[in-house]
Amino acid sequence: MTASSHIAPTPLAERSCGTCTLCCRLPDIDALAKPANAWCQHCTQGQGCRIYDARPQLCRDFLCLWRTDAALDDAWEPARARMMIYRQGPQITVLVDPDVPEIWRQAPYLSTLQGFAREGDDGQYVIVFAGDAVFRVE
Ligand code: SF4
Ligand code: SF4
Repeated sequence: MTASSHIAPTPLAERSCGTCTLCCRLPDIDALAKPANAWCQHCTQGQGCRIYDARPQLCRDFLCLWRTDAALDDAWEPARARMMIYRQGPQITVLVDPDVPEIWRQAPYLSTLQGFAREGDDGQYVIVFAGDAVFRVE
């Protein structure tokens, strides 16, 4: 993730991260010299950040789309979907758990992503990162 992806959104009150720590694993985070799909050195998997009070601003500001957009229902809860989504301008980015790299092709995920790709009045498009592979959803 880059700083440009971290425009502080408003979280939905009824949703919380719970034990999900996917955004501490799936993205590359320059500020932490963390490559994609590697656990952040400060994360305890399934529990959270060990440097919570001192975590970078990037981490403070980030919320995935499921935390802020009611259009993504419970099937998209990242810990359940095994993927996380966020927006960067017109790009909707989907980061898939490399342990289940094909899950985004399954129902209900693919049809929803195709719907996002077809809504592209403002040039919106959808890119999926799954392991070392990158796909544009059509
Ligand atoms: S991926 Fe979303 S739900 Fe999971 S920890 Fe990050 S912000 Fe929370
Ligand atoms: S510093 Fe903390 S919040 Fe940020 S990626 Fe690492 S474990 Fe997650």
